[in-house]
Amino acid sequence: MSEEEHIDQESDFLKNTDKNPSNIQPKKLTLDSPLQFECHPGVPCFTACCHNIKIVLTPYDILVLRKRLGIPAHDFINQYTEPTYLEKTDMPGVQIKLTEDKKGCPFVTPEGCTVYQDRPSACRYYPVGMADFHEGGTNDAGEDKFFFLVKEPHCKGFEESKQWTIREWRADQGVDERDELNKEWLRLVMRRKSFGLQATLSEAAKRMFFMASTDLDSFRRFIFESSFLDTYEVDKETIEKIKEDDLELMLFSFSYLANTLFGAQGMTIKQEKIAAKVDEIKARQDEAMKKAEQDYADLKAERNRLQKEQEAAGQAKKE
Ligand code: SF4
Ligand code: SF4
Repeated sequence: MSEEEHIDQESDFLKNTDKNPSNIQPKKLTLDSPLQFECHPGVPCFTACCHNIKIVLTPYDILVLRKRLGIPAHDFINQYTEPTYLEKTDMPGVQIKLTEDKKGCPFVTPEGCTVYQDRPSACRYYPVGMADFHEGGTNDAGEDKFFFLVKEPHCKGFEESKQWTIREWRADQGVDERDELNKEWLRLVMRRKSFGLQATLSEAAKRMFFMASTDLDSFRRFIFESSFLDTYEVDKETIEKIKEDDLELMLFSFSYLANTLFGAQGMTIKQEKIAAKVDEIKARQDEAMKKAEQDYADLKAERNRLQKEQEAAGQAKKE
């Protein structure tokens, strides 16, 4: 399996909220496979799956949720999330902070999800998981992609009579759009996982990943209030877009992170910055060369002085 295949196969971690493998049905499904399932306020287990869960949030999840709540990203992160490590890597992320008493999602009420239209990606995928072996993923389930069901004992949705295909279910849940918007970010996490911890990632790089992934307001300040735009080539059109448009800024942050964390193409350092760096290195080298030459001259002078001393001493002995 190539690294890319590995990356995409593993990028299922958001789509499977169930961590007990025995609840994963072994049958491989396609987009046209039938699915008998429905979730609605009449099911006896209604909102059971919104308790005792781990819901990791993607940058897009955070963006739409905090907009819905009308609060800055920073406040959303503080109030509704807690830190986690993503998919057993050292990449920092956030998960929804459950309530103290009932260990429930802060957005659940007995009537259902209060943020349903903007619910996180993980909530949409459940209970249909996806394994994707195709580089970059596509909208069609070919040989490289298959689906599977997560059937937890408490979930009574499978006893409902509604019939659909996996394709219809995914369209109903808005999953394809989420897949597309989460794809590049998930690939960063999976790339880290596939490289293993032997490849070092500095603390500063991890902090940057966390900031860009969770707080686009701060990332925007970083772009426009640091030397970023003096350092990187960014065309005017992009600058205008990311100034105002959070979605564009989010997609831009994925390119930037892929470039700085993993050396991916997509960001170019300005020629004059490179030239300045080369000059700086050259100046340092010239300085080091001058110092080495001076040290050598000093050593030579010292050796000559010692030689002369010895010759003088030898001459004195003869006399
Ligand atoms: S966001 Fe909504 S659907 Fe998701 S766990 Fe919370 S209440 Fe349930
Ligand atoms: S456990 Fe299943 S049927 Fe019950 S609320 Fe959750 S998804 Fe719906």
